[in-house]
Amino acid sequence: MIRSSGKAKKSRLIEILAGLYPGAGTDLSYNSTFQLLVAVMLSAQCTDRQVNKITGKLFEKYRDPEDFARLEEEDLAEEIKGVGLYRNKSRNIVKASRLLVDNHHSRVPQNRDDLEALPGVGRKTANVVLNVAFHAPVMPVDTHVFRVSHRLGLSAGKTPEAVEKDLEEIIPPDLMGTMHHCLILHGRRVCRARSPLCGECRLAELCPEHRSKVLTPGRNPEARSQNE
Ligand code: SF4
Repeated sequence: MIRSSGKAKKSRLIEILAGLYPGAGTDLSYNSTFQLLVAVMLSAQCTDRQVNKITGKLFEKYRDPEDFARLEEEDLAEEIKGVGLYRNKSRNIVKASRLLVDNHHSRVPQNRDDLEALPGVGRKTANVVLNVAFHAPVMPVDTHVFRVSHRLGLSAGKTPEAVEKDLEEIIPPDLMGTMHHCLILHGRRVCRARSPLCGECRLAELCPEHRSKVLTPGRNPEARSQNE
């Protein structure tokens, strides 16, 4: 049985996770940082697969900020109808593209303040662009990263920002990009929201959530039946 505690335990969890998903990266398809930004903006409440289906055709017709800046919001909305909230997303993408053309020489800025000043770009979207495109040591926290980090005891932060801060303190900067996707993949494939597959999880021995289920009869149907 693996025994370790505190910082060493967290480091060990990170090491194992990185080993479970070697080469983990984004599933979004793009050919430039600008296209990544558009894809991430489209991905809110939508699967990467669906986004790729839309952008596959979209990026053949419109490639850079100038192309998108020339579009009317309604025209882009028609092109991206397959994603949720497409009217809002269309408005934000057209406005953001115009700002990039007017204020940033048609380039995606490499800093958080300028990114978050773009319409429709919040902290998580900015972090994804900074992490994936610019390899900045920042951690985007989505629902999977938040849940898995809590269950593994990597963070007890109550907000995405607090979890982000905790993860950035314990994950080595050069692993931040990989770990972002490892946490997402683990959340999608194993540590699912409703029914985590703890029996198949390589992290179970070190996982506080799993250990508390095993040790607390009320949270573990098997333990309860043995005690009755
Ligand atoms: S042991 Fe269970 S709760 Fe812990 S990380 Fe694995 S799947 Fe999630």
